[in-house]
Amino acid sequence: MPEERLLARRLELLGLHTVEGIRVTDNRSVMVSLSPRGVLRIHRGYARAPDRILKAVVRFVAPRTPRALRRAAEHEILSFRPEDHAIGPARRRRSGDRAQPGDVERIERLAQLFAEHNGRHFGGSLPALPFRLSGRMRTRLGQLCIRHETGEPYEITLSRGHIDRHGWAEASHTLLHEMIHLWQHQSGHAVDHGPTFRRKAEELGIAGSARRTVRARASRDRAARID
Ligand SMILES: [Zn+2]
Repeated sequence: MPEERLLARRLELLGLHTVEGIRVTDNRSVMVSLSPRGVLRIHRGYARAPDRILKAVVRFVAPRTPRALRRAAEHEILSFRPEDHAIGPARRRRSGDRAQPGDVERIERLAQLFAEHNGRHFGGSLPALPFRLSGRMRTRLGQLCIRHETGEPYEITLSRGHIDRHGWAEASHTLLHEMIHLWQHQSGHAVDHGPTFRRKAEELGIAGSARRTVRARASRDRAARID
């Protein structure tokens, strides 16, 4: 994998010594992430990024980088559009759905909430799925994405605007809703808003319907749909 070698070489020259390994990805919602085992996952297009962008990657993953500098580094990283530099057929994401500053923290928080809900309400039985933040969901708050071909869930999408406008308590509620769908799938139930959904939602103390009212900070209530 030449891009992986190229990236490893360039990052090392720019001062990256703290990671266990590098994997290139084609995932456009998380451009750069560090696994708990210290493996850096980075979009392959960064192999062609200017040095200043890769220096920001080095700052971003360095364990001692202060929070403010880490955020600045994230801005810098996201100013580069790797999909414009990736080789091969680029399935370009439409504008409005690009990774945004703060997404790393939003996704870390979602993963943390997922683990908490999973332990508290599902006996830890649900498989961890990747998260994606969408800037294009207008009427929906969240969605459990299921592959048409196999019927397998592969991703949980949350509206970024929902998190930012309604706050983490509401986003946590939406996440739990999607986790009930995941539980339905895992237990062989239909993934829907029927009686099994309503019973489980009642048990967990959340809204048992596809719609609920959310209150935007400093604005009036609005009915919103969750899939
Ligand atoms: Zn639903």
